[in-house]
Amino acid sequence: MNFIKAEEFTDSTLVELISDDKYNEELAKRADKVRKAIYGSDVYVRGLIEFSNYCKNDCYYCGIRRSNKNIERYRLDFDELIMCAKIGYKLGYRTFVLQGGEDMAYKDDDICRIVEEIKKIHSDCAITLSLGERSKNSYRAFYNAGADRYLLREETSNRQHYYKIHPSEMSFENRRQCLFDLKEIGFQVGGGFMVGSPYQEDEDLVKDLRFLQELEPDMVGIGPYISQHDTPFKDMENGSYKKTLRLVSILRLMFPYCLIPATTALGTINPFGREEGLRAGANVLMPNLSPTSYRELYSLYDNKICTGDEAAECRSCLELRVKKAGYNIVTARGDVSKTKRFYVEKRGLCKLN
Ligand code: SAH
Repeated sequence: MNFIKAEEFTDSTLVELISDDKYNEELAKRADKVRKAIYGSDVYVRGLIEFSNYCKNDCYYCGIRRSNKNIERYRLDFDELIMCAKIGYKLGYRTFVLQGGEDMAYKDDDICRIVEEIKKIHSDCAITLSLGERSKNSYRAFYNAGADRYLLREETSNRQHYYKIHPSEMSFENRRQCLFDLKEIGFQVGGGFMVGSPYQEDEDLVKDLRFLQELEPDMVGIGPYISQHDTPFKDMENGSYKKTLRLVSILRLMFPYCLIPATTALGTINPFGREEGLRAGANVLMPNLSPTSYRELYSLYDNKICTGDEAAECRSCLELRVKKAGYNIVTARGDVSKTKRFYVEKRGLCKLN
């Protein structure tokens, strides 16, 4: 295939690029060039605090779904969360990502209090929330309390596919609406999806890319689907490692300014997945800051890496890995906004057909 500009990718070009292993090297090379032009070799790090594995939802693919009676549930209290942030700050993290199941035991006020306290102690840090779907009013309260960013993967942009991997009580429309609400409120938003989730077709992935063009996200998180032994999808095949890398590259080409993590799932499916993710165009890493005693319990999928390492060990291990891959960890907050504005407004790069 003749390589054309990302602005001109048609649906059929995308399907071809997504489906064929022969494109990995070329895509990665081009994506790395784009990433170097905007971000150089910089890799932003975000300290991930998995603060609760209680969840009211029952997504068929996820190990912390409410019907899984085989896991011990935990939630971090206020003091534990603040302690995680303090440890993270000492290690150089300037963004904290608070991620959890949809745990309604944390009322809006509780989340606001946590956000306000972290901001009070670490005013130079960004706070990213990833707590699933809440009302627009709740999101507004979080934003007013000082939260800067919100991660909410759309998971899939094909309605039929959505209901093959989620129970009917959940809402495809609401999840998408949440993303637009978050954006309207002023959050930097991150969407994303799993690669190779059960019943997914390559055409569905193209739909995701088109949805993201509509959303104009600041961040996009993707990782391979990995089965979890206590879910209805336990016997389903894992997503493809190489396809995930190709999609990382395609994302970089289509959304040059975006913050794209080399995810833990990518590092789980291949021992060098995160390094290869960086080489394919990713520029963010999200090492775990949760207390080690809880790590195993946040078991979205099987064999998750780094569950035994203390925060400090994760930090130095990553430093080495990133250097070896030819990149450089930076401790800046790493906001996207200015660069994004340049690309979206001056070049119209996000507005593809
Ligand atoms: N409750 C939050 C956080 C969900 S966990 C929310 O709703 O956004 C973060 C992400 O992990 C999910 O968005 C999903 O894409 C991913 N994930 C869940 N189960 C997975 C699995 N089995 N394999 C790979 N990724 C998974």
